[in-house]
Amino acid sequence: MQPPEPRLRFAPSPNGRLHLGHAYSALLNARIARTLGGDLLLRIEDIDLGRARPEFVAGILADLDWLRLSFDEPIRRQSEYFSDYAAARDALAARDLIYPCFCSRGRIAAEVAARQARGVPVPHDPDGAPLYPGTCRALSADERRARIERGEPHTWRLDMPAALRTLADPPLVRRFSPEDGAEETVRADPARWGDAVIVRRDVPTSYHLSVVCDDAVQGITHVVRGQDLEAATDLHALLQHLLRLPAPAYHHHALIRAEDGEKLAKSKGSESLADLRAQGVTVEDVRARLGF
Ligand code: GLU
Repeated sequence: MQPPEPRLRFAPSPNGRLHLGHAYSALLNARIARTLGGDLLLRIEDIDLGRARPEFVAGILADLDWLRLSFDEPIRRQSEYFSDYAAARDALAARDLIYPCFCSRGRIAAEVAARQARGVPVPHDPDGAPLYPGTCRALSADERRARIERGEPHTWRLDMPAALRTLADPPLVRRFSPEDGAEETVRADPARWGDAVIVRRDVPTSYHLSVVCDDAVQGITHVVRGQDLEAATDLHALLQHLLRLPAPAYHHHALIRAEDGEKLAKSKGSESLADLRAQGVTVEDVRARLGF
């Protein structure tokens, strides 16, 4: 069988305008797509209906155009595919690999504090959040059904122990070198995420669920994204195994830091490409600063 055609994607969330970190990621994706002779797709990750806004989508398209980046068609907008993610959710639920969780944030914080007060160690996930103590994993099937039927808000969490029991060995992640495409395989450690939220309360998906579904649907062979998502790849490898989806190879690039060494983030008001452009910074300046 022929290996699939190389295919990469840039997948911004339209919760604000793009900043230099996004520009770096997009330019690197384009360079690697060129080196590998593959396609470059654009995916708008707009599942966060409270934060995603049409004017940010328009702004992102304008910024990418300004950077002189072009993408193969079609552009995929995640908000148009909620029913597909719901089908993936249902497939996991039918196999008891996810369970509904009715705990509020406050309830989880109180449970974690109570455990700590009793001297029970509470491990933290790679993003620094305490692992979910598993409270709702113990609910009976009848209670779950009754509470869902009553309309109680709930997320769906991965039953990590059950998910791990489906595997003889830890899932593997293929990493590739952006220079020559050479690959190495490393063992993933999804257990460090505990019973992660796979389906949010407000929409029938989460970043993790959508990203593995979409990378598969779009035929993505190489994922190039920031190091801040490297640990999440362990969870993605597990979900790909559970949903029997193909797994791309990954390259996690170093993050572009602000002058003070802090991570760039829209929420912290990092200068956007639009701000830089308004200050008279040219696309050549931006490309040169980022090494392109
Ligand atoms: N939408 C994510 C972000 O803007 C990127 C997701 C990914 O590349 O997997 O940070």
